Amino acid sequence: MKILIADDDVTSRLVLSGVLRKHGHEVVETINGLDAWDAMKRPDAPKLAILDWVMPGLSGVDVCRRARTIETSQPPYIILLTSLDQKADVVTGLEAGADDYLAKPFDPGELLARVDVGRRLVELQAKLDEAREALVHEAMHDPLTGVLNRRAFAGALTRELSRKRRYENVLAVGICDIDYFKQINDTYGHQTGDEVLCGLVRLIEKSLRGHDVLGRHGGDEFVVVTEHRREDGPGILYERLRASVANNPIPTSAGDIPITISFGVKLVDAGDTETGLLAAADRALYEAKGSGRDRVRIADEPQRANT
Ligand code: GH3
Ligand code: MG
Repeated sequence: MKILIADDDVTSRLVLSGVLRKHGHEVVETINGLDAWDAMKRPDAPKLAILDWVMPGLSGVDVCRRARTIETSQPPYIILLTSLDQKADVVTGLEAGADDYLAKPFDPGELLARVDVGRRLVELQAKLDEAREALVHEAMHDPLTGVLNRRAFAGALTRELSRKRRYENVLAVGICDIDYFKQINDTYGHQTGDEVLCGLVRLIEKSLRGHDVLGRHGGDEFVVVTEHRREDGPGILYERLRASVANNPIPTSAGDIPITISFGVKLVDAGDTETGLLAAADRALYEAKGSGRDRVRIADEPQRANT
């Protein structure tokens, strides 16, 4: 593994790096505490550091103290090198945040064994971190389609509502529902139905812009929050989404399946709440379904004759 060593004594540094390199470690050498601290602040900093106690500028203990102020889920494992006559100060070193210490002159076998303990802990920490991130991801995403689940979308909507945006821009919330999706499940089976849900998500994602947010509301319903220039209104984007679904049959293992979707959209007005917005979009969706499906209905907008 990559190991940082800091020692101002050239002989001691050579011995240390020699033993570590011989056993397959990559060594980053520094010759004083300040350089060591600089190396530890870098994003690619070694996760294990062996610091000599006595160094000009910053001592190993000073570097330890500073290293422990870095906010990170993967703190470095630090071994302090002490001379035998400093052994009484070991408590100070451990209190400053060192994980272990080694008395100089050190025995190479003991050095490698202690480095190995550090390596195991660093690797364990990395695995825990990965598992935690995977759990967080799982808790926020729909397992079938990979988009935000209902709870995570609610959080994203709250953030979008509170985010400052340029005054000429407005937000809209849309809910879409596949038309006659039950028939697809009945005709092709549930698994193909799942493929249609995933295909629909990929199709919608292609038409969204970076700051738009997509989530699964449940079943065959998806929610989108989009940002528009005030003068454009949300109609163009949602109409484009609807048309893109209507014009692009979804490829599945049972062949291409044509579908249509209906959209209910609510433009965000000052003072609108998350639940109020979703309820208004849902009512508009209900109207879109009632007036023939495969269409976009914008809440509170006067109905045109042909919709
Ligand atoms: P409508 O045009 O009125 O929306 O008709 P519909 O047949 O689509 O009716 P509705 O939206 O109420 O039905 C949704 C169906 O979606 C019911 C349910 O069996 C199915 N469904 C819900 N979740 C899943 C899923 O994860 N996978 C599959 N394959 N089907 C699902
Ligand atoms: Mg449906």
